[in-house]
Amino acid sequence: MRFKMTEHNTSKFCKTCILPEGFIDLTLDPSGECDFCKDPSYENVNYSKKVIPHALREEKLKDWKNTIRELQGHSSEDYDCLLGYSGGKDSTALLDMLLNELGLSPFLLTIDTGLMADVAKENIKKTLKKLDYEGHHLFINYAIPTFLKLYSYLFRHHNSEKVLLTKRICDCCSDLLHSIMVKESMKRNIRLIILGYSSDQIKRYFYEIPQEEILNEWMPEFLSEEFFDDEDRASYLKEEQFNHRIIPRIILPYHVLPYNEEKIINSVVEKALIEKGKTNPVLTNCHTVKAAIMFDYYKYGWISYSLQYAELVRQVKDEKERKKARKKWLRLCKSLARGIESGRFNRQGLSLFLKKTSLSKKDIFQHSQEGF
Ligand SMILES: [Zn+2]
Repeated sequence: MRFKMTEHNTSKFCKTCILPEGFIDLTLDPSGECDFCKDPSYENVNYSKKVIPHALREEKLKDWKNTIRELQGHSSEDYDCLLGYSGGKDSTALLDMLLNELGLSPFLLTIDTGLMADVAKENIKKTLKKLDYEGHHLFINYAIPTFLKLYSYLFRHHNSEKVLLTKRICDCCSDLLHSIMVKESMKRNIRLIILGYSSDQIKRYFYEIPQEEILNEWMPEFLSEEFFDDEDRASYLKEEQFNHRIIPRIILPYHVLPYNEEKIINSVVEKALIEKGKTNPVLTNCHTVKAAIMFDYYKYGWISYSLQYAELVRQVKDEKERKKARKKWLRLCKSLARGIESGRFNRQGLSLFLKKTSLSKKDIFQHSQEGF
C-alpha cells in the first residue's frame, strides 16, 4: 500500500485535475501537474484517454445510418437487432429511439448478474408496459452462479501490482455479458447487437467491438480451474460454435450520435418511461464495482474512480469552471475515502454482495492494515 488518506492529508494532488502523486505510479512534475494532464497521449494500463479523430467519427456515423437504412428496408417478421437492455436511462432511451424514431423491431435482452439493482428491474417492467413491448423481452438469469463465482474468484486472487481490481472486474464481467448476447443472437439469427454504452465509455472499444475479438473467445484462462465447472464454461462461446455461422456485429451507437446525459434523462422522464429520480446511475450502479472500489482503496491507496472523475475535470475548458469542478470531484473522492475508512460507505450493498458471492470481509479488506 502506497498511501492512505488519513496519513496523507498532506498528499500532493495534481493542480489541474485531482489525481494524487504515487497512485498507480503517477508522478507530478515540478509545476504540480500529473502525467495525464501534461501529456494527452499518456497511457496507463488502468486508464488511457482515447482521442477519436473527427474523420473516424464521421465514417462510423455514416456506417450507423447505412446499417439502420438496410434494416428498415427489410420487411420481415424477424427481429432487426438485439438490444442489450439494462433498465438504465441509456438503454431505455435507445429502445425508445429504435422503436419510435427508427421504426425497428428490436429483441430485448436483460442479463441478471445476481446483483442487479431492484430499481433497474422495476424500470424495465414499467417501461415495457408503457411501450406495450413486453412480449419481446428475455430476462436471462441462468448465468447468475457464473457471474458470482467470477467475482468471488477475482476478489480472492487479485494481486496485480499494476492493474486495479475495478478495471479487471469490469473487463471480465463485460466479456461474459457480451458472450451471452452473441450466443443469444446466433440462436435467433439476429445479425446486429446494439449496446447503450455512453459516449465516455470508450476505454476499450469505439463504436464497434471488432469481429476478431468476438472470435477470439472471451473465456479467461482461469475458468479452466476446478473452482469453475462445465456449466460456467458453457456460458462462453467456443470457437467451433462459430463455424459456418454468421457472427453478429456489436455496435455502440452513442459513440457517434450526439450524446447528452441531461437530454436523455429528460426525455425518458417526460415520456414516462422511467419515473423521475430513478434515472440516477448511482442507484443502478452495481454492488460489485462498489466493493472493488473498497478493495482498491486499501491495495492501491486511492479511489479507483478518481481516474474517470479526473477526466471530467480535464474536459472543462474554462479555467474558472474547471477549478470549481476540481474542487467538487476532489471533495467527493476525499469523502468516499473517509466513508470507506469509517465503514459507512455502501454498508448495505456490501453485506448483500458478501452474502451472494460467499466472500468475507477479509477478502475485501485483505490489504487493509486494520486486520479483519
Ligand atoms: Zn492531472
